[in-house]
Amino acid sequence: FMMLTKKLIEIRTILMSIDHNETLKLPSIVVIGSQSSGKSSVLEAIVGHEFLPKGSNMVTRRPIELTLIHTPETDEEYGEFPQLGLGKVHDFKQVQKTLTDLNLAVPETECVSNTPIELRIYSPNIPDLTLIDLPGYIQIHNRNQPETLKQKIEELCEKYIREPNIILAVCAADVDLANSPALNASRKVDPLGLRTIGVITKMDLVQPEVGAAILRNSDYPLHLGYIGVVSRVPSNAGDGNMTGAVIRNEEAFFRSNLIYNQRGVNVGTATLRRKLMNVLEQSMGRSLYGIVDAVQKELEESRYQFKVQYNDRRVTAESYVAETMDSLKHSFKDFATSFGKPQVRHEVRTMLEQRVLDICAETYWSDPKVSELPKALPDDIYWLYKVDLSAAALTKSGVGRATTQLVVDVLMNNMEQLTSAEPFGFHPSAKKQILDFSSEILRNKFLTTSDQVENTIKPFKYEVEVTDQEWAEGVRRSIALLERELEMCDKLSDQMRIAVGKKKLRAAIKHVLDTEKEEQRRTDRARLSAEEGVKGISDSKTGEDVELEEVTRTHYNPKLLEKAREALFLRDRAMILKYRIAALKSRQCKIPDNKQFCPEAFLNVIAEKLTYNAVMFIQVELLNEFFFQFPREVDNRLVYEVKPSQLQAFARENPALGKHLDLQERKMKLEEVMDKLNYLVRRQQDRQAKTKVG
Ligand code: GDP
Repeated sequence: FMMLTKKLIEIRTILMSIDHNETLKLPSIVVIGSQSSGKSSVLEAIVGHEFLPKGSNMVTRRPIELTLIHTPETDEEYGEFPQLGLGKVHDFKQVQKTLTDLNLAVPETECVSNTPIELRIYSPNIPDLTLIDLPGYIQIHNRNQPETLKQKIEELCEKYIREPNIILAVCAADVDLANSPALNASRKVDPLGLRTIGVITKMDLVQPEVGAAILRNSDYPLHLGYIGVVSRVPSNAGDGNMTGAVIRNEEAFFRSNLIYNQRGVNVGTATLRRKLMNVLEQSMGRSLYGIVDAVQKELEESRYQFKVQYNDRRVTAESYVAETMDSLKHSFKDFATSFGKPQVRHEVRTMLEQRVLDICAETYWSDPKVSELPKALPDDIYWLYKVDLSAAALTKSGVGRATTQLVVDVLMNNMEQLTSAEPFGFHPSAKKQILDFSSEILRNKFLTTSDQVENTIKPFKYEVEVTDQEWAEGVRRSIALLERELEMCDKLSDQMRIAVGKKKLRAAIKHVLDTEKEEQRRTDRARLSAEEGVKGISDSKTGEDVELEEVTRTHYNPKLLEKAREALFLRDRAMILKYRIAALKSRQCKIPDNKQFCPEAFLNVIAEKLTYNAVMFIQVELLNEFFFQFPREVDNRLVYEVKPSQLQAFARENPALGKHLDLQERKMKLEEVMDKLNYLVRRQQDRQAKTKVG
């Protein structure tokens, strides 16, 4: 009852999934033999399928590590290449093709490769075995098969026939055993033949007496003995399961010669299979304690590491995802509570105040007549018209869209910040997903919100009623606003003086002013001469004229002049601002009826009203909706709708967590393996005890 082999193969598969550096050396059956000795045919007869690369050229260029897994509970037969991840391959022609391709992928210059191809075959018709097919020894070497190839193959085989592996030395019956490279190689590492089985192929090609003599092996004795086979596929076999055909053919052959039924003569593929199973099982039994020791050491090491590095804290991809999303929702909630009406109002007001400043600058402060404004008559149509124009510029500037967009931008900025925090640096695609659905929620709310805002402020486009209190507040705000603006003007002027240099800047300013004067003079004179038609005038230059011309001819750096013009502008703007602040503080601006004299205050009052209304609707339509929907979307899209494999992938994006998971998994699998091994050890001991009693 072959159990050890099966269990240990299972154990090896588990261990392979945690690492490939072979901590665990399970004995395998290594198949060696000359080219054309019939190696492939024997292997295929054991497996029951044609699946090995064939061709006149040498086709086995890489070792094939073949694991046969007996699956009595099903009819399904298939191969699997664990390194390729192709899944189940049911068509053995396809297995053959894949092996051929993998072999051919070895570059010609390299001849043979030491990297094994892993192949697992599952079938109810095979025993549990691990076999390694190696490139056949070559005898002759010609131009196509150079000496180095011969050597490389020999080295590769030497590496594999070491302990604890079992050597299957394949020799053809029609070739003198003295010349068998397989037996020669085996003898070097296993002189008594304790772990070598001789397989004599092509028994049908020699006389029965000769064949039987070989199998009795008096010349080259092997402890495990020789088995003769006939494993050629009979010509009438057809496709499909060929074991039957081969074995029937073989059985018929050996039955036809009584000599093969004698004692001490072992023949037939079925016998070979049984022998392999027995020998491997025994070898596994001998290796068991060594394996237990190796796994125990590995397990202790990973337990220790897990304790030291993670204090035995267990993690799962699921818990990591849940924690990450919880902390995201948590910081989102913090933000949501901190970003209420007052904060939105501040944002919107700041934006609208900037608009007020822009309108004032464009409509009033750049108007040369602005200095005359305080002395204008109350019914001066010029200023009355201007104040209405300015108010319209503010109310009709697309406040709905602009304020909504502003709040959306603030929200998105904040989402960007939230998703830049740890550990989202490891999860760029999750971050993108979060930002995408955040902006999706906001986009869905955008139009209704901006339309609502636009609707509520519609009345102000026609008329703005102002109470005394609102007016006083507006005046106060506008003064503060203008003072800030003035401060900024002064600061810029100072900075420029420092950057350019006081003297240099003053000289450049003088130059700019002189040039302007000179140009003015020239145009004046041209106008005069055009008007009067008198020639002589342009010729009579005063002393001042000459001096001015001198000045303007001096060369100045255009960049410096640009700075000088800027400085002049700032100087003028600061002066106007001072006048306007004074005007706003004057008695004239104490009552709302004088709004045309105090446009800054009036625009501020409007801005305040717009702000109030906009914020009210943005709060209800946009903010509340977003704050409500976002955490639900996080749950739906990043937790509930995510497949387990995606959770794993997400968690492993974080390298620290990946390591943690790896070590934890390694420890768990080693524990599982250890349990299985302990069971096998107990069983083995029981059996030994029974044998002793018996
Ligand atoms: P490999 O190069 O060692 O893998 O040898 P193959 O299995 O490819 O076989 C070489 C040749 O020997 C093929 O033409 C096979 O058909 C043939 N052959 C294999 N086994 C037998 C056998 O038992 N009897 C006979 N007559 N021919 C065989």
